[in-house]
Parts: sequence; structure tokens; C-alpha cells
Amino acid sequence: MIVAIDGPAGSGKSTIAREVAKCLGLRYLDTGAMYRTVTLIALRAGLVPDRIAETAALAAKSDLRFVDRTNDLTRAFIDGEEVTNTIREREVTKAVSPVSADAGVRELLTARQREEGSKGDVVLEGRDTGTVVFPDADVKIYLVASVEERARRRRAQLLRQGVDQSVEELAADIVARDAYDSGRAIAPLRKADDAVEIDTTGMTIRQVIEQVCGLIQAKRVDGARG
Ligand code: C5P
Repeated sequence: MIVAIDGPAGSGKSTIAREVAKCLGLRYLDTGAMYRTVTLIALRAGLVPDRIAETAALAAKSDLRFVDRTNDLTRAFIDGEEVTNTIREREVTKAVSPVSADAGVRELLTARQREEGSKGDVVLEGRDTGTVVFPDADVKIYLVASVEERARRRRAQLLRQGVDQSVEELAADIVARDAYDSGRAIAPLRKADDAVEIDTTGMTIRQVIEQVCGLIQAKRVDGARG
């Protein structure tokens, strides 16, 4: 069973994907953490913004490790150094879209995601998991929510990490990132034709989880019958 959950920044993908994976006994794969980690490598090497094309070769030489957890953020390591919090800081968030638009970076990380996902029984979340990484995924979900709601959620999430950023600033970042992610030539953010779109504005987390779990259970029953 491969479940692909995509959607714009702050639409609730991580929370929903983790909870759904936990309650259905599936693995969880946070593809955004991978793009963020490679972006940190690019920033540290001074490759942003002019030499982004050199990022993939450098990242390929690094030992990147990810520990996906259903009860907390995915842990990330570069050559043994833990960068779990650093990859979620504003500097990385601002640079991640241009780095993620690079063909070499996408090739490197898509291959890794396919390798991980093809072991089966996994929920992947990102921007292109249902369109490019696993176009034949069993269940595809596309989560959306209003910009205001997404900015408020991101603010609450950052406050829990001890970071205080205004809703206005977060909304501006979200709009800019969405535009970049949707407008890029390779693997742009878009809803797969066969994805189920859920607008989570005004819904509780519990309601979204129930809807997504229901879709997966129905698919499992179908699979068992067929
Ligand atoms: O989901 P998260 O906010 O951590 O993603 C960070 C960024 O990584 C996105 O804004 C996007 O630029 C990039 N990304 C991507 N493809 C994915 C997942 C994330 O391009 N599958």
C-alpha cells in the first residue's frame, strides 16, 4: 500500500501523514525534510543562489540519513551531524524552493524516495509524491487550506519550537513558496488528476485523519476483494 499526500506549504500534510501512518501501521516518509537537508548543504557551501546546479554532486557525496517518526518531526543527519532543527529554520525555508527546482537535486532525491517507498506500506508526503515519485500510488490525497489558516498553523507549530514569527510574515513566505513550487518546470506542485482533494480550512485534525483513513481502508477492502 503506497499513500501519497501532497499539497502546498502548511496545508497539514506532515501532521496528517504521520497520524494516518501511525493508526494504519504504515511507514512514514517526509520528502520535504530531504529537500531541506540538501538545501542546508547548498547554503553551507555557498552555492545559493548562483551555483545551485553544483548542489546535487555535493549532496551525493554526503551521508544523508533520515529517521521518520510518527510522533514527532523527522530527524535529519548530514555525515552524522544532527540537523533536525536547523533544516526548519527560516534561512533554509527561504532557500528551499530554488534548490528544489534544480534537476539534479530532484533526480537524486526522487531516486531515494522511490527506493524507500518501493519497500511498500508507506505514507509519503511532499509536493510531487503522487504525480512524479509514485504516479501509481494506491491512494492519492491533495490537501489544501486558505493562506490565513496555513499561516496561523505554521505560527503555532513554530511557537512550539520556540520561534516567534508573525502571521503576516509567515503568510508572505507561504505565498512566495507556493508560487515558486507551482511554477517550476520540473515536478511542479499540482494535484494529480486522480487525487482526492480535501480542503482542511475549518476542519479539525481528527476530521481530516478520519477522512483519509477512510479512503485508505476502502482501498484496502477493494484490493482484498479484487
Ligand atoms: O514540506 P516542506 O515545507 O518541508 O517542504 C519544503 C520545500 O521542499 C517545499 O517548499 C518544496 O520547495 C520542496 N519540496 C519539493 N518536493 C517535495 C517535497 C518538498 O520540491 N516532494
